[in-house]
Amino acid sequence: MARTGAQYLEGLKDDREVWLGAERVGDVTSHPALQGAAGSVADLYDLQHEAADVCLVTNPDDGEPMNASHIVPRCAADLQKRHASVERIAQTSLGILGRSPDYLNVTFAGFAGLAHIWAANGNDRGAANLVAFQKEVAARDLCLTHAIIHATVDKKLGDLASGGGEIALHKVEATANGILVRGARVLATLAPFSDEMAVYPSHTFPNSDPRYALAFSIPMDTAGLKLICRDSFSLPSSAFDHPFSSRFDEQDAFVVFDDVEVPRDRIFVDGDHDICANVMNIGWAANVMQQTSLRAAVKLEFAYQLAVKMVEALNAGNPQTYEMLGEIWSYAELTRSAVKSAEEGAYDWGNGTWLCDERPFRALRPMLPKWFARVNEIIKLLGAHNLLTTPTAAQLAEPSLRPFIDKYLQGAAGTSAEERSRIFRTAWDFVGTALGSRVELYERFYLASAPRTFQIAHHVAQKQPGRSRLVDELLARKSE
Ligand SMILES: Cc1cc2nc3c(=O)[nH]c(=O)nc-3n(C[C@H](O)[C@H](O)[C@H](O)COP(=O)(O)OP(=O)(O)OC[C@H]3O[C@@H](n4cnc5c(N)ncnc54)[C@H](O)[C@@H]3O)c2cc1C
Repeated sequence: MARTGAQYLEGLKDDREVWLGAERVGDVTSHPALQGAAGSVADLYDLQHEAADVCLVTNPDDGEPMNASHIVPRCAADLQKRHASVERIAQTSLGILGRSPDYLNVTFAGFAGLAHIWAANGNDRGAANLVAFQKEVAARDLCLTHAIIHATVDKKLGDLASGGGEIALHKVEATANGILVRGARVLATLAPFSDEMAVYPSHTFPNSDPRYALAFSIPMDTAGLKLICRDSFSLPSSAFDHPFSSRFDEQDAFVVFDDVEVPRDRIFVDGDHDICANVMNIGWAANVMQQTSLRAAVKLEFAYQLAVKMVEALNAGNPQTYEMLGEIWSYAELTRSAVKSAEEGAYDWGNGTWLCDERPFRALRPMLPKWFARVNEIIKLLGAHNLLTTPTAAQLAEPSLRPFIDKYLQGAAGTSAEERSRIFRTAWDFVGTALGSRVELYERFYLASAPRTFQIAHHVAQKQPGRSRLVDELLARKSE
């Protein structure tokens, strides 16, 4: 049943081990550095009721309302329903919340739809656990985080061998109720605000030690699960001063599994590297990149509109600024077009599960980190010192200052000082504050780096039929 924000927040009050600085956080919903983001995720749970026609569908299992991001797509209409809901969610944070709950809802819906891949090599029990888990996530409307990358210690030695093989998350032993796991993983975004920690493979290590081939999910208050958060970038002053940092610091946590027991019915893979490789190679990108690309499209469209406002507020229109504005618009439009193309090319990926054509997403994926970094650069170039001459809400409210602010910090063409400050404060929080910098790092890496994803794009392209047809035909023509 689709939860409300209040129900979601209530669910976060447990014995989870969240470390922020040297403080073990007691209640993530009321901690000054965390409550803003907790409230924003809660807003998303309320949004699905306020915009029920867009966000909710009927859960086929229990007949209750369910967020559309839990749909296991079976046809084009399912993808469109999911599109509308995901887009609506992205609009609330303008794409700043990278790991809003719909990201992993979509991920697990795709996994469950292709459960036959998880059932390979006799893993029927693991696949059944996965399907049951996805149904539980949908029915209870849970919020998930995930840690799918091994901790980095020594790049020459590699992820598994580093630290004598003890750093990477691994199975220690079977227990009466499941398995005991130990090790570390990076980097669980949204972890303090999640109900469950999902683990599955990202990079795979064929023919290596099966102890490292794991996929499972556990509640956040499971004994031994430790979240070591990065510095908080939350600036809980006001939405005027910091429209993003006041609300959308979704946090990123280093995860330690200190002898954590995973119950048997929550184990999806235990020791099979082939399954781990296949679940990420077949359908994963086609599925989840509908969500990630829609979020990117919303964010790029917002960046374009914001940049236009900056230019207009200073009457700064000239060929160079128009060129930069057109550049941002092009990135937004190309992203939107890639989603459209991927959705139009959707097909049955097996098991009756209808997912997008992954090729537009594979092409888009390595470009987005570059585009987002360039968009940030353009906003800084357009803004210059104006990004920093931005009175705060408190300064605007100070009677002895206000006349001077109104006179000397007004903008062009009737733009008031308050409006000008609001525009440029928003721009600075988008690109320049600690959260702005972190978000740029997120865009560069959250789905692996651009060099890596260009390589993957090439390998995917090589699997397409007719990949050398044009050259072969030309060569054949020459030899006639
Ligand atoms: C803000 C943020 C949030 C994140 N959230 C999550 C999360 O919620 N869950 C999760 O599991 N992970 C998360 N991650 C981790 C993310 O998945 C990794 O950062 C990503 O996979 C890249 O791995 P890496 O950081 O080890 O960098 P690397 O892959 O080591 O890349 C570092 C540099 O090395 C170069 N490089 C690496 N490999 C190659 C190669 N094969 N060819 C050429 N060049 C290469 C790249 O150019 C890159 O610049 C997050 C990361 C960030 C920064």
